[in-house]
Amino acid sequence: MRGRRIRVRGQVQGVGFRPFVWQLATRMGLSGAVLNDAEGVLIHAAGGDLDAFERALSVEAPGLSVVDAVESEAADVAHQQGFVIAASGGSGAETRVTPDAATCPDCLAEIRDPAERRHGYAFTNCTHCGPRFTILRELPYDRASTTMAPFEMCAACRAEYDDPADRRFHAQPVACPDCGPRVWAEDRDGQKLDGDAVARVVDWLTEGRIVAIKGLGGFHLACDARNAEAITTLRKRKGRPGKPLALMATLDSVTAHAAPSPEEEALLSSPVAPIVLLQRCSDALPDGLAPGQARLGWMLPYTPLHHLLLDRFDGPLVMTSGNLSGEPQVIGNDEARQKLSAFADGFLMHDREIARRLDDGVEIAGPAGPVVLRRARGRVPGTFALPDGLPDRQIVAFGGQLKSAICLTKNGQAMLSHHMGDLDDALSVEEFLKADADMAALFDHRPEAVAVDLHPDFRATRHGLSRAENLGIPAIEVQHHHAHMAAALGEAGWTGEAAVGIILDGLGLGEDGTVWGGEILVGGYGAAQRIGLLKPAPLAGGDRAQAEPWRNAVVRLDQAGLSEVADRLFADRPVDALRAAVTAGFNAPMSSSAGRLFDAVAACLGLAVERQSYEGEAAMLLEALAMLAPGSGGYPYETDGAEIDPAPMFEAIARDLAGDVEREVIAARALGFFVEAFADAALSASEAWGADTVALSGGCFQNMTLLRHVSERLKGLRVCGPGLVPANDGGLAFGQALVALARMEAN
Ligand code: ZN
Ligand code: ZN
Ligand code: FE
Repeated sequence: MRGRRIRVRGQVQGVGFRPFVWQLATRMGLSGAVLNDAEGVLIHAAGGDLDAFERALSVEAPGLSVVDAVESEAADVAHQQGFVIAASGGSGAETRVTPDAATCPDCLAEIRDPAERRHGYAFTNCTHCGPRFTILRELPYDRASTTMAPFEMCAACRAEYDDPADRRFHAQPVACPDCGPRVWAEDRDGQKLDGDAVARVVDWLTEGRIVAIKGLGGFHLACDARNAEAITTLRKRKGRPGKPLALMATLDSVTAHAAPSPEEEALLSSPVAPIVLLQRCSDALPDGLAPGQARLGWMLPYTPLHHLLLDRFDGPLVMTSGNLSGEPQVIGNDEARQKLSAFADGFLMHDREIARRLDDGVEIAGPAGPVVLRRARGRVPGTFALPDGLPDRQIVAFGGQLKSAICLTKNGQAMLSHHMGDLDDALSVEEFLKADADMAALFDHRPEAVAVDLHPDFRATRHGLSRAENLGIPAIEVQHHHAHMAAALGEAGWTGEAAVGIILDGLGLGEDGTVWGGEILVGGYGAAQRIGLLKPAPLAGGDRAQAEPWRNAVVRLDQAGLSEVADRLFADRPVDALRAAVTAGFNAPMSSSAGRLFDAVAACLGLAVERQSYEGEAAMLLEALAMLAPGSGGYPYETDGAEIDPAPMFEAIARDLAGDVEREVIAARALGFFVEAFADAALSASEAWGADTVALSGGCFQNMTLLRHVSERLKGLRVCGPGLVPANDGGLAFGQALVALARMEAN
C-alpha cells in the first residue's frame, strides 16, 4: 500500500509521543506503525489525509516534546488493519533524555481524588510529567536503568504501562501505593516514626521547626516562611547570614505576596517549575528571607509530595537546598542523616534513590523571555541547536572556576550541563569530574577537541588540558569574555561577519595578561578583539577585592582625586594599609572589571561595605535600591573613544552624598552610568564596524534593570541578550564550545 515514511526528530522519546501518534492515526483512520529508534520516532502511515497528519504531528505534539523536524518521503507501507505501536528499532537506545517535569494537572487531580487508587500518593506520574533525568542511571532510558528498578510494577500499573491508549503507556517511573516508593518521617536521630508522614511534617512546620525534605534532585531544608524566628534559626544553623532563601508556595499564596505578570505566572507553572525571582509587593513576610532585596525567589510545588505538603500546610515554605555551606546538595538518605541532622529537627524521607543531583533552577522574566540565572532541574539535559555555519564536530568545553558547567556538542546540538557550583570546594570538584565522565558516557561522546578558559589555574582548565593530553586531541583556549559573547550570540543563532559585545562581568583573564571584566568586543565566534574597556583600577588585595567592596571604592575614589572622601566614608577600614600595598604593587593587579565597579559604588552607599556574604550581594542590593528611583538619569563619564573613565561619576556621587540626595537616586544614577557609558560605546562601535548586532553577556547582566535599559538604548540594533544560557559563568562552556568549533573550521 502506498503511503509515507515519516521521521520525527527532537525530544520525542519518553514524553508519550508514540501513544500520541497512535491516537492521532487511529482518529484519522490511518493504517501503519510507529516506533522509536536511534534517530527519534519513525512512522509509516497510509490510507488517509497524510498532509493533515504531518501537520498535526508538530501542532498537537505532547507538552514535554520538542519537535525539531518532521521529514517525510513516499514509501510502501505494509498492508494491515489499523495502526500499531511497533517494537523499538535498532539498538532501541533512546536518543534524548527529557528533563524532569512538574506534576501535570491530570496526575494532580488523581492524587486529590479519594476515589482514585493513587489518592495521596507521593510518586504519581505519567508520560506528561514526573522524574526523568534525576532517576536516570544510564541509557537507554527504560525502567531497569533508573532508580525505579527495584520497584516491581503491580498488575494494575503494568496494564497502564502496556496500554497505548493510557497516558502511562511506557511511562518508566509509573508507580502506585501497592508497588512504588514510600515516604516516612524520621526524627533527628534517625528514628523512623509511624503514622501519616505528611501530617507529622506539617505539624512540625506549623510549630516552627526545620525539616529536611527529600525531593527530586536533592534534599531541601524547609520551614514556615512566615516565622521570623524559624528563619533566624535556619540561617544560624546553616551559617548563611544573608543569601536569599527560596520559597515554595501554591500560586494563590504567591500572589498574596507578589504580583506576577502573565509571563512570570506561565514560567512558575511550566513543567520546568523553576524558582522565579518576583518583585515583593507586600511586607507581610519577614525581611530575613532576603535582607535588602527587592525580589523573592518563588517556586510552585513540582512533585506530588510537595503538593501533598502544601495542600495541608496553609502558607509559603522556605525551601533552601540541604547542604553544608559551599558543598553540593545532599542526595542520599544516610548522607542526609549524617550532614543535615545538625540543621533539621526532623526528616521527610523516601526510598526512591536520586541518581543525579540537580538543584532547583533560578530564573527571572527578562525583556525578551525567561532569563536563566542557574541552569538546573527542569532544563537539563535540554539542548541548543548550533548556529548555522559551524562544523558538526564533537567538542567538550569545561567552563570556568565559578558556577561550573560542561558543554558537549554533537549532531548539530549543544548540551549544556547543570550548574555544579564553584570549584573551590572539593566536593564540587568531585561532582564536576564525575559529571564529565558521566555525560561522555550518556551521550556517547567522542571529543575531537577540548575547549578551556585562558586561565591556567582554573580547576576546569587544568582538567580540560589533561583530558586533551590523555586523548591526544587539541585543547583550544578561549578568552573568558569572548566565550561570554559567543554564548549570547550562539543562543540567538546569530550568523554573520562581526557583532559588537558588551561584556560586563566579574573577573576573567584577558589576552594581554591583565584581568578583564568591562569590555567592548568586536568579532564573531572564531575571534574577537577588545576595542573598548572600563578604565582599569587595582584589585587591591587580589581575591579580597572580590569579597570586600570597600577596597574597590577606595581605589576608584583615589583614582578620581577624592582620597579625602574615601578617608571619610571608610574611616573604620584599614585604608592606609590598602594604599601602601597598592603603591608598592603588592597583590594589586589592574582590572577593568565592571563587577568590581558595581561593588565600589555599592560601598559608597553603605551596602555590603566590609564583606559580601554571598557573590553578587553588593550589586544586587544596589539594583534593589535603584529600582526605587526609576528615571533618575545617569552619572557622567569621560571617554577617549576606547577607555571609559568613571572618575566624573565618583565626583558626582561625592557631591550627591554631601548634598543629602536620596540613596536610591544615587543608586539609580550609578546604574544609569553603566547603561549610557556602555550602550553608547556599543552604538559607536556598531557604526564604526558596520555591525548590526550587539551581544550582552557577563554576570552583571543578571541585573534585569541593567539588561532592560541597555536593550532599550540599543533599539534599532539586533540585541542578543541572555536567555536559557546564563549570562554568568554557568553559560561559559557553551560559548567556549562555539569558539572552538569556529576555530576548527578555520584550521
Ligand atoms: Zn502526569
Ligand atoms: Zn502499582
Ligand atoms: Fe565571567
